[in-house]
Amino acid sequence: MANMDSKLNVACAHCLATNRVPAQRLEEGPVCGRCKQELLDGRPVELTDANFDLFTQRTELPVLVDFWAPWCGPCVGMAPQFDLAARQLKGRAVLVKVNSDDNPKTSARFGIRSIPTLVRLDSGREKSRRTGALQAAQIVSLVG
Ligand SMILES: [Zn+2]
Repeated sequence: MANMDSKLNVACAHCLATNRVPAQRLEEGPVCGRCKQELLDGRPVELTDANFDLFTQRTELPVLVDFWAPWCGPCVGMAPQFDLAARQLKGRAVLVKVNSDDNPKTSARFGIRSIPTLVRLDSGREKSRRTGALQAAQIVSLVG
């Protein structure tokens, strides 16, 4: 864990600006210095092939990516649990959704063969993954 004086890079989901946020302010609703929108609003961020790399490489908090598709029943069933986990992890991690149908490049690069698959990233690098629908508590534990 970062010490209290350190700052972490957090990418803005709205304008992709990199913000330096003091570690102790992460859970206090920091806003983007460029576009003034909330950086860590406790809701999953939807990313695409166009912005996935920039966003994940610029974010030093743990990032948890949900590869999903609208036709996938277990994916849709897990969505409320993923939303709940995002609220519980507000300020501690960034939860991301990638529609694997609409974003084949990112899905192929991660070798996604079945969905839902959750991939945990640290500064853009894969640390672990889980395939299959999970409950909110299980999702939260992937970041712990
Ligand atoms: Zn912004």
